[in-house]
Amino acid sequence: MSRLALKHIGKVYDNGHVAIDDVSLEMADGEFMVFVGPSGCGKSTLLRMIAGLEDISSGELWIDDKLANDIEPAKRGLAMVFQSYALYPHMTVRDNMAFSLKLAGHRRAEIDAAVRRAAQTLQIEHLLDRKPKALSGGQRQRVAIGRAIVRRPGVFLFDEPLSNLDASLRVQMRIELARLHQELGSTMIYVTHDQVEAMTMGNRIAVFNAGRVEQVGAPLELYQRPANRFVAGFLGAPRMNFMPARALGRHAGGLELELPGGFRLALPFIGAGSDELTLGVRAEHLRFAEAGLAATVQLVEHLGDQQIVYLRHAGEGETIAMKLPGHEAEPRPGERRFIAPDPLHCHLFDGDGLALERPEPALRPAAELSA
Ligand code: ADP
Repeated sequence: MSRLALKHIGKVYDNGHVAIDDVSLEMADGEFMVFVGPSGCGKSTLLRMIAGLEDISSGELWIDDKLANDIEPAKRGLAMVFQSYALYPHMTVRDNMAFSLKLAGHRRAEIDAAVRRAAQTLQIEHLLDRKPKALSGGQRQRVAIGRAIVRRPGVFLFDEPLSNLDASLRVQMRIELARLHQELGSTMIYVTHDQVEAMTMGNRIAVFNAGRVEQVGAPLELYQRPANRFVAGFLGAPRMNFMPARALGRHAGGLELELPGGFRLALPFIGAGSDELTLGVRAEHLRFAEAGLAATVQLVEHLGDQQIVYLRHAGEGETIAMKLPGHEAEPRPGERRFIAPDPLHCHLFDGDGLALERPEPALRPAAELSA
């Protein structure tokens, strides 16, 4: 197990492109950290810099108590698992897994024991004599992980390891990787663009955008208290709904807001610097109501246990998504309804996209505020 610290890390590619811009992060011994962000935000670049496959342009990488910027990749005590698996096609599973230990000059008996132990952990003992072409995608991925395990690295680095698997296998491998993490207790960094993987796998998530870290924290912390509009919109499906909100006045401990179409509501927020704000509310925190935002049902997606209702509201804004329990009566397209957000679960963002402070823990209902 190892600790990692990134201090003001930067990466400028030869063509002048800034892929990583002043990233500082610490990862504790045994932590499962997920780097998540849209394609091209620099998360693989950063992982490759940690692995030593890419130079660090500026800043410091510390592995345990060593400055590791110039330590060669094989000596960093890390093992990386790639999206492409990168198995040697002409070698059996056993030889693929044994390869790095052979290279490092370990004794035969020691190598055999390490391969057997890893194969047991990954439940691939019956595949040891096969070549990669005789394996399914999921089995190949397991061999790629096995190859990393035998080296007993202090840190595992995973670069989108499940992207090539079909949906049900991805779910299964997600569970297995979480189990593997519990069993090995190793520090793991996992790169993905998939917010569901991030939410379900990490002890902590670092959300990347354009080479920078937007926010770091436990999955639910980020989901419930996104620091800005980017994080709010990136985590969660359907995406958080956003709409313009004008601050009309400040009550004791709260703000009165006007939404498109003139609907007013009071929210327990500390005052804003400006009056032009954005309200953010997740699909599960909207309900049909007697009064509220006037909207027209456009489409209903029935998923069995729940239904996603898409509506268009009076303002010019985007479509609003709302989650309802599956057993409720299904609204009909074209129906005009009022919808209201749960005031305890609303987010407000200023003109720069930064989340307004919400007093903790006094999340009082709107009714109390306006009383
Ligand atoms: P992600 O893993 O988040 O999808 P990457 O780390 O692969 O993103 O890439 C980050 C940015 O750096 C992208 O804009 C990509 O085009 C650019 N990039 C990646 N590799 C190179 C390279 N060798 N030379 C120049 N630019 C690169």
